[in-house]
Amino acid sequence: MYFVEVILPLSLSKTFTYRVSEAEYNYIKKGMRIAVPFGKSKVYTALAIELHQNEPALYEAKEIHQILDEIPVVTEIQIAHWQWIASYYMCAIGDVYRGAMPSALLLESETIISQKKETEVDETQLSDDEFLIYEALQHQSSLKVLDIVALLGKKNVFPTIQKLIDKKILAVQEEVVELYKPKLTKYIRLHTDYVDEQNLIALIDNLNKKAQKQKEILLSYFQLNASQQKPISVKQLLEHSQATSAVVKALVDKAIFEEYYIQEDRVSFDKNQKENNLQLSTAQQKAFDEISNAFEEKEVCLLHGVTSSGKTEIYIRLIESHIATGRQVLYLLPEIALTTQLVGRLTAHFGNQVAVFHSKYTNNERVEVWKQVLENSPKAKIVIGARSALFLPFSDLGLVIIDEEHEQTFKQYDPAPRYHARDAAIVLANYYKAKVLLGSATPSLETYFNASRGKYGLVEITERFGNVMLPEIELVDLKDKYFRKRMKGHFSDTLLENMAEALALGEQVILFQNRRGYSPVLECMTCGHVPECPQCDVSLTYHKHKNQLRCHYCGYAMAKPTRCHNCSSVDLTTKGFGTEQIEMELAGLFPNKKAARMDQDTTRGKYGYEKILDSFKNREIDILVGTQMLAKGLDFDNVSLVGIMNADNMLYHPDFRAFERSYQMMTQVSGRAGRSGKRGKVIIQTYNPNHNTIQQVTNNDYIGMYKEQLYDRHIFKYPPYYRLIKITLKHRDFEKLKDGSMWLYQVMSQNLNMPVLGPEEPAISRIRNEYIRTILIKIPQNQPLGSTKKTIQKILNSFEAISQYRPIKVAANVDFY
Ligand code: ADP
Ligand code: ZN
Ligand code: ZN
Repeated sequence: MYFVEVILPLSLSKTFTYRVSEAEYNYIKKGMRIAVPFGKSKVYTALAIELHQNEPALYEAKEIHQILDEIPVVTEIQIAHWQWIASYYMCAIGDVYRGAMPSALLLESETIISQKKETEVDETQLSDDEFLIYEALQHQSSLKVLDIVALLGKKNVFPTIQKLIDKKILAVQEEVVELYKPKLTKYIRLHTDYVDEQNLIALIDNLNKKAQKQKEILLSYFQLNASQQKPISVKQLLEHSQATSAVVKALVDKAIFEEYYIQEDRVSFDKNQKENNLQLSTAQQKAFDEISNAFEEKEVCLLHGVTSSGKTEIYIRLIESHIATGRQVLYLLPEIALTTQLVGRLTAHFGNQVAVFHSKYTNNERVEVWKQVLENSPKAKIVIGARSALFLPFSDLGLVIIDEEHEQTFKQYDPAPRYHARDAAIVLANYYKAKVLLGSATPSLETYFNASRGKYGLVEITERFGNVMLPEIELVDLKDKYFRKRMKGHFSDTLLENMAEALALGEQVILFQNRRGYSPVLECMTCGHVPECPQCDVSLTYHKHKNQLRCHYCGYAMAKPTRCHNCSSVDLTTKGFGTEQIEMELAGLFPNKKAARMDQDTTRGKYGYEKILDSFKNREIDILVGTQMLAKGLDFDNVSLVGIMNADNMLYHPDFRAFERSYQMMTQVSGRAGRSGKRGKVIIQTYNPNHNTIQQVTNNDYIGMYKEQLYDRHIFKYPPYYRLIKITLKHRDFEKLKDGSMWLYQVMSQNLNMPVLGPEEPAISRIRNEYIRTILIKIPQNQPLGSTKKTIQKILNSFEAISQYRPIKVAANVDFY
């Protein structure tokens, strides 16, 4: 008897055994997808990871439905890496598989399929089964895979659906709905008729006689074409030829020119075309050489370079030297907001060898990149992506770049796998013997610790590119300003004066307001009552624009009440302030200037960020107000002033990383000021101008911050000296949860020879009607990690075996951030 061992895309730690025929046994390779029945009537896309002849002892193996691939779509390295992730981050292998694959490759009975209306369909080209599905979708907007099984009267429908997806006729229902379309650039090219030289000569002759102006444009076009070998935009042609758009239009009407559009982030270049004029500065060249040397001995190197030191150009050089050897490069970014800028910079150097992969791309787009990477296609030599790009099927990875490595968004929070992309990428690189470069102006304590102890190479750049000075930082003491009545709303006179000055010179301003833990709430002036979410243990946030109170945890919303729910007083006021309130105040303070806001509310959709960043870059916006998103490596050339509205709410966030994060955030936002030429200025408003962290930011004293924080981490038993595992328990029944978490805590502290803290009620102790408790385990560095986790897992298993605790949801977060 023959069997295949598979992973199911479900939260299950076990693999499952299915029966196959001898022919199938010989055909199947590890990494192929197989449709299998599971449970009573479900069908899933499983992943083959092993072929064997051992009948399972505990259950009768079912037969598979069908093999879905002709060649493996997942590599053996991926399978090994995913198993590592499951074991290190204490989650089910099924969770990793499900999280890693684009959902269009994971069809299951419940998957919802709809027609892609943009695609024109030639019905005569469809097979009978394909036509039946297509036909059914003319009468209803979507179908479940289950429905298609009934429709076709057979079990094996995945391949038919997959073919229709590949033909772009069908799509798996998307989570993201796109509203904004990115700006399209209009390009122009010669009509294909005139590729033929005879035709072209005849044309020029003809124009020479009848239409001089048109001929001139045509010649201008040839000049541009010869000099740049990249697409010629209409705008560029008009500038170069000094002609009017009417003349161009005439040529288009005559079908001599053709217009076409390219989406800004997809510009593809001629293969040979590269911008090779890049000259590294002496400091950059030195850093580049040092990195290359470090890679002789070490797998990982940290590039610690101040903001605007030109790290990206160094990455580009490194990428160049790696793809020259034919190997693939993975470039991870913390935030997809950054991809457009970076894609622009990279395509300028590498043409269309650059592919982008992130969660806001559609399923079909993600599948396309998946396949290109699998084939080691020249179109995807360099993959730029957010953390999930590390699940792609690389065949020959040579270099991983992790930009802004300190960013907490590299850690996946929910759902499992709760992996840290930086750490998982370092492990991934190891399978390929690839090198890893971590870059940051403000490295995480963990990384700097590893670098200073020699585990990683360490390369530093202390000057900005072009020797632009780091911005001047001025502290404004809010206590003093309020006392002396020098505040207008949340703006000090100092900040206002500096803003007025910058704006008068036509320069742009960035204002930073960290909203975390400090959002505007509605408070009753009579009884002090603050409206709270009925399902979560949090105050509702006031949104002036919609005149609503909203919950940021579950999305609950209600109209703003006119009377206090507690005492019926009408004397209600809003306290605290977020980005929205700043934007409102600006309208009064600078009525002639355009202000915009960038935060989670204004950046939904695939191009949400681009919309705002584009208009800021184009100087349609004078003042940009934003949250932490602004701190992430954006490069603006006309920003001379950055204002940090309130530094204190970052500092006093209840979190052992609060000071480190405040330092990073303030230094990063400050780094947006004065990037080209002129020295920038930063104004930090705070009640605590003498706070160590604020002083360290002002003096650009990373090492001071590092040493102080490291000392604290040592004393209080935190990373990098201890590894943390946070166990979160959730249940609707308060008492049951309390008992369960106490049981778990007690068993853990008895069996683990290390600090176990809790069970704690977190600051937000109820979300969506579920109560929450947490237990924190601190594993000292000298303890073997593997066996400790095994013990923890055993305890969790026995917890689950207790029937009254089984309904309690338990999640482990390893190395939680
Ligand atoms: P960082 O990532 O270190 O903050 P960037 O890579 O964004 O810095 O570089 C800052 C600015 O300097 C960018 O506008 C970039 O185009 C420019 N720059 C950096 N290196 C060079 C170079 N070698 N030649 C020309 N311009 C450069
Ligand atoms: Zn009241
Ligand atoms: Zn809520």
